[in-house]
Amino acid sequence: MSTDTDTIDSDLIERLRARGQRVTSQRLVINRMLQARDAHVTAEEVLTAVSQTLPGTSLPTVYATLELFERLGLVRRVSAGGGALLFDSRTVEHHHLVCRSCGAVQDLDVSVDLAPALDGARAAGFAPDRAALVVEGLCDRCRAD
Ligand SMILES: [Zn+2]
Ligand SMILES: [Zn+2]
Repeated sequence: MSTDTDTIDSDLIERLRARGQRVTSQRLVINRMLQARDAHVTAEEVLTAVSQTLPGTSLPTVYATLELFERLGLVRRVSAGGGALLFDSRTVEHHHLVCRSCGAVQDLDVSVDLAPALDGARAAGFAPDRAALVVEGLCDRCRAD
């Protein structure tokens, strides 16, 4: 998944303008980093990765930017249970494998019908956004230890 910087930037600019949000260099740089990594990252990892390009960026700013990007549909939160809050720049429907020993998070591409879970949520008076599956266990590296 290597889209060039211009495409990544113009996609963000379009989404920001559509929401009446300002285009800032922080937003551009953080988005480039997320799209280039194409992985599950914590806000701390984002901060470390952009701190050279954007000196003076604070963790609260990174969180606020990630939350904005979530509303813009550019990242999703991964509910990996227990560990740190992760953000995923892969926004197509997919699920996750979470290692209970090292905390590694991997994508799981299977098609699962989660409609009954959403129906059950609605029946309980809940307004669901989406449902995703987390499979917990041991990753292959931890199994080998
Ligand atoms: Zn592991
Ligand atoms: Zn993922």
